[in-house]
Amino acid sequence: MSKIVVVGSYVVDLMSRTPHLPKPGETVLGGPFKMGPGGKGGNQVTAAARCGSDVTFVTKLGDDLFGREALKHFITENVNTQFIKIDPGQATGAALIAVDDRSENSIVVSLGACGTITEADVLEAEEEIKEADIVLLQLETSIEAVVSSIKLACDNGIPIILNPAPFQKFPEDILYNVHYITPNETEAFELSGVEVTDEGTALAAARKIHEMGVGTVIITMGSKGAFLYNGKEKGELVPGFKVEAVDTTGAGDAFNGGFAFGLSKGLPVRDAMIFGQAVAALSVTKIGTAPAMPYEHEIKDFLA
Ligand code: ADP
Repeated sequence: MSKIVVVGSYVVDLMSRTPHLPKPGETVLGGPFKMGPGGKGGNQVTAAARCGSDVTFVTKLGDDLFGREALKHFITENVNTQFIKIDPGQATGAALIAVDDRSENSIVVSLGACGTITEADVLEAEEEIKEADIVLLQLETSIEAVVSSIKLACDNGIPIILNPAPFQKFPEDILYNVHYITPNETEAFELSGVEVTDEGTALAAARKIHEMGVGTVIITMGSKGAFLYNGKEKGELVPGFKVEAVDTTGAGDAFNGGFAFGLSKGLPVRDAMIFGQAVAALSVTKIGTAPAMPYEHEIKDFLA
């Protein structure tokens, strides 16, 4: 079985539908309310676990109702929860999401416990990281967690995927130790200063990001697919799958979970990308983030 370690965020998604988004000072009577597991780390863990990986999640939760629900979710998904720490001094991360009738949203994310992951927390999972096929990271935690995970994985020769989302500033020299980086168009702009709108601009942005030290750059471009550049050739836009999309939130997380699974199984990078895009395409046909991640049999049927 392939082994993936994800160091990242967990937040509970608290979502209300509302006729319109509240203005400052306004209270709006909302429609249906939904609660579910979320956070980029949690979503990517769920995606990879449903693909069939042995996934270890390194994160932190509060000692509260949301934390207990999160643990239940990851146990159900067969995730190794040994390195999910409970911090009694912090609340579990939460995203307060309002979605109006036109599907516009307004979101406040409080990272809570998962925003305080330290180097010491990462080091507790040292043995797991040493045995991993892939380490998968995002930027939705403390930068200390990201930097120390990259150092540990790199010292042990373990390939790293960095999904630089949501974008926040980090010490750029860590990119020399990152094998795969997977920004979307917005994050690619943040990293490179190049606005990505098509294949040509994707290549220009990918070149700049590659020059920063990363081995392989993959820019995900929504329904257009994902652009692959490894510094050797002129790059390639690998098209996505055509599906009836109902909710594209979490598409990037689904892609990263599936891509990590593909690489951990030894697939060449282009094939792992196609696998990741299949996982992402299936995820956008359902509402929600973690709950919308497809299972192994669904992916097999889709690719058959
Ligand atoms: P993010 O969610 O991080 O903004 P993207 O929107 O770039 O990421 O989506 C990631 C991947 O998900 C894409 O490369 C593509 O493979 C897939 N995807 C996204 N939107 C769609 C869609 N409408 N139809 C099919 N695949 C999609």
